[in-house]
Amino acid sequence: MNYIKALENPIFKIIAQASEQLGHESYVIGGFVRDYLLQRDFKKDIDIVAIGSGIDLALKVSELLPHKPKVQVFKNYGTAMLRYKEIDIEFVGARKESYAEHSRNPIVENGTLEDDQNRRDFTINALAFSLNENNYGDLVDPFNGLTDLENKIIKTPLNPDITYSDDPLRMLRAIRFATQLNFTIETESLNAIEKNKDRIKIISGERIVDELNKILSTDKPSIGFLHLYKTGLLDIILPELTALNNVEEIEGHTHKNNFYHTLEVVDNICPNTDDIWLRWAALLHDIGKAPTKKFNKKQGWTFHGHEFLGGKMVKKIFERLRMPLNNKMKFVAKMVMLSSRPIVLSEDTVTDSAVRRLVFDAGEDVENLMTLCEADITTKNPTKFKKYHNNFDIVRKKIIEVEERDHVRNFQPPISGEEIMEIFNLKPSREIGVLKEAVKEAILEGEIPNEYQAAYEFVLARAEKLGLKKVI
Ligand code: ATP
Repeated sequence: MNYIKALENPIFKIIAQASEQLGHESYVIGGFVRDYLLQRDFKKDIDIVAIGSGIDLALKVSELLPHKPKVQVFKNYGTAMLRYKEIDIEFVGARKESYAEHSRNPIVENGTLEDDQNRRDFTINALAFSLNENNYGDLVDPFNGLTDLENKIIKTPLNPDITYSDDPLRMLRAIRFATQLNFTIETESLNAIEKNKDRIKIISGERIVDELNKILSTDKPSIGFLHLYKTGLLDIILPELTALNNVEEIEGHTHKNNFYHTLEVVDNICPNTDDIWLRWAALLHDIGKAPTKKFNKKQGWTFHGHEFLGGKMVKKIFERLRMPLNNKMKFVAKMVMLSSRPIVLSEDTVTDSAVRRLVFDAGEDVENLMTLCEADITTKNPTKFKKYHNNFDIVRKKIIEVEERDHVRNFQPPISGEEIMEIFNLKPSREIGVLKEAVKEAILEGEIPNEYQAAYEFVLARAEKLGLKKVI
């Protein structure tokens, strides 16, 4: 088959010309070809394989372009990259790879196109379009990748056992592509992943998280997490999640399976947010439930304090996976810690003071918290489902009303500690803290509005009880 239409972008002709001048062949390979054949959006990445030096080809292409773009050379990897009209084009020389036990970095030799296709992870990623004059636009497909694309199958070109053992990152890539493309992973591959799962330990946290983020960015991350679970990888990467996968029964009392519930919450949140950190919060919102689970005759199953513990566990997970320990981590921990608040609110009559406290505690993130908690409604009882959603609508309306009136989202005390010291001629002392806290509580409870005059009068009345005298 000829796909000359895929090569409409003028850059391909320039690469072809550069290859010809250097006297060697070149091909477009990998994601560009796969995504073109799947009619997916073009991601502005093109991979070129040169049957010769990839670096020389990149330099030659730059020379032929009017604006002579800068070529980034990665000598150690024998690759080079340049940017053309916001497209990143990566050049690599065709290579043959062999692997050592302890590392995913192969020993590399120059090779043919076939060698290079052999080293690719999946048949659908080994497809190439020719950029050579005699067969420009022809598809080179030695492993029937096109059929696998049509049948929606993830399959390795060579023995899967060796492929995954050589570079265990491919196990996550297989699962990630299956999730992104909604493809099936061939049984031999799944078996090989299960067999080689422990090899994932040689992969760095950053790489693992890159793939987890890509899974979490899809429309239905549960596909990926179920594969991770079934192959045993999840138990190694995020054992806090697999610990949620059980249902115990004591004296006829059961609790829900919080692992499957979590996956439902993650899928539920996807249509409502693209924020990867909020999706992480959905994934981790119940992790405190396994270590806090208890049973007593009166209450049945309880998970007291799971939100607080869960928030603490977030930090540990971020550390272990080498994720950023910055405000993103704090955001996820905060969402986990507050994750039960709106639902508790919505089960009951929604009072102004409860909403005010929620806005005070969640601050800027209150909308995100509401999005998380709405996704958390997974009850299969239609009456309850409707009731909770209706109550959430009430909570949302109240959040707006309360915020317009009391401005507690970024709470600034209406009367400062310094002013209290002046009024009563006090040195810094415990009383000032007590009075400030009392003002905050009175505002949150709705006893006084969040205004100076009301706070001033409240402080005077409260101070009298403490035996303090106004001096100005
Ligand atoms: P995406 O951009 O969605 O991640 P992609 O296929 O372009 O998709 P890249 O990571 O950019 O993915 O890799 C480009 C190509 O390099 C792949 O299509 C594949 O042929 C090859 N490749 C990437 N990583 C590996 C790997 N770990 N093992 C074998 N081949 C790989």
